[in-house]
Amino acid sequence: MPQLTYWSRPRNWPRLVRASWRSSLQFRTVTISAALSGVAILVVGVYMSVSIGNDLFQSRLSQVLLDSNRATSAAQSLFDSSDAIDRVQVQNLLSSARTSISATSSSRLIAVLRVPGQDPSTVAPLDSSTFGQSTGVIGTDLRSQVQGNNGEQFWQSVSLIGDAAATIPGIVVGSQITVPVAGSYELYIAYSLQDAEATLLFVQQTLGVAGVALVLLIGAVSWIVVRFVVTPLRVAAETSQKLASGDLAVRIPEKGEDVIATLARSFNGMADSLQSQIRELADLSEVQQRFVSDVSHELRTPLTTIRLAGDVLYDQRASFPPATGRTAELLHTQVERFELLLSDLLEISRYDAGSVQLESEPTNLVYLAEDAIDSLRSLAETKGSDLRLVAPGGYLNADVDPRRIRRVLQNLIGNAIEHGEGQPVVVSVDSDVQAVAIAVRDFGLGMSQAEVAHVFDRFWRADPSRQRTIGGTGLGLAIAREDASVHNGWLQVWSSPGAGSCFRLTLPRTKGAVLESSPLPLPPHDVTAARGETGHVPERGGGEHV
Ligand code: ADP
Repeated sequence: MPQLTYWSRPRNWPRLVRASWRSSLQFRTVTISAALSGVAILVVGVYMSVSIGNDLFQSRLSQVLLDSNRATSAAQSLFDSSDAIDRVQVQNLLSSARTSISATSSSRLIAVLRVPGQDPSTVAPLDSSTFGQSTGVIGTDLRSQVQGNNGEQFWQSVSLIGDAAATIPGIVVGSQITVPVAGSYELYIAYSLQDAEATLLFVQQTLGVAGVALVLLIGAVSWIVVRFVVTPLRVAAETSQKLASGDLAVRIPEKGEDVIATLARSFNGMADSLQSQIRELADLSEVQQRFVSDVSHELRTPLTTIRLAGDVLYDQRASFPPATGRTAELLHTQVERFELLLSDLLEISRYDAGSVQLESEPTNLVYLAEDAIDSLRSLAETKGSDLRLVAPGGYLNADVDPRRIRRVLQNLIGNAIEHGEGQPVVVSVDSDVQAVAIAVRDFGLGMSQAEVAHVFDRFWRADPSRQRTIGGTGLGLAIAREDASVHNGWLQVWSSPGAGSCFRLTLPRTKGAVLESSPLPLPPHDVTAARGETGHVPERGGGEHV
């Protein structure tokens, strides 16, 4: 289970998430909807938590103020109705007041502090406080407010120190009371907000759990909804991919009346029209191919008659007046060209129709090259070119159709002589275990890169006005390329203006084998040596190839 182990490694997760984000529309949509709803739920949750917290505080505050007011009034009325005159009586009065406050206010944190700045009195009891560890929480601001305003209540939010030194939020309410004989005292009662805080925490936790559950729910719902939309889209994408790769019969299933069904219908309509147009084009091209082949066939018989008549005239040209003699010569060469063109056209139409049958047999490529050279020796002599054969030996036999390969070689060597400017033409043959290669190198005009790009095009010629000695139909290399590819071979060219050209034909030694490299280099050795390059030349980089 290699896939599972890959997923189970946490360090692969970021890469997997990135890959899913890029490749899955469903994953993207679900992530975006979950993230957006998460943000919305967070905002609402924070708002609710803040407003509930405020509300809880305000209600507790008003309750606390009411409570402390009630306790203070009860204590004050106790003092007002008392007739205590000595220290012990005042002390007793104060402690019973404290008990009453504690009973009325439900708080055990009570501090009674004498307002400073009064006459020192022997009767006045000392300050007393049950704040314990929280004594320091009564701030100076609150104290000065209480000291300066008799009859009013003041409050302050504080942090009380609870059991085990834990801080608890709380409120301290302060007011002044008047104790008979002893003078004015500040009374502080502290209230804990622990209950309110616990309620708020509970609310926040509930909101948090509900929020997470809601995000998960929204994610799951959008996953299901998006699936409904994405599945038909995925089918459409796969179908169009198959269509694009040539399977014209594929269609999207059409179900229902919704927008997806409309998409499927229009896609299928498009595929139908594409299929019928391609069929029409195929029929048309078949008709054209048949037309070319029929016309070429039909032209053969009249052309043979014309040729015979032309030959008779050509043979007797010496007895004609000079102008008529020239015409007979012209007729002869043009009829020859016409015949050549016709046979080339027939040959290429056979390739187009896919009706070429290879008649392969074990063939020695060196003999074949010698044959081709011999057949063109007289042309080379008229052009002043020296024809050389370089064959170092090796596995020179290959399973090929000798008639076709001889034709390719004759074409390549003929072209090299035609465009070789009287320079030598070198034909090299070499081989390795898998392939045999023949390179035809000339040192003539050469071609530019733009010309090289078209050299295998039908009817293409670098300079159509140039004087030709043989052939010149513009179909020679197109046919040679077909001949090479029908053998699973390559026909490649290197050429440079002024430096000549090199055409390399590479063929697999056994029929149907796939070529990987060529035994001969391209550009040729002499070029790389002149440039000072010694290294290996890339197999497919040297120019046009099949
Ligand atoms: P053809 O030789 O009948 O014109 P080809 O298909 O054999 O047709 O060649 C097409 C064109 O490629 C030629 O017209 C010529 O311009 C160019 N060409 C072919 N071989 C060479 C070469 N060895 N050197 C320069 N140009 C060449």
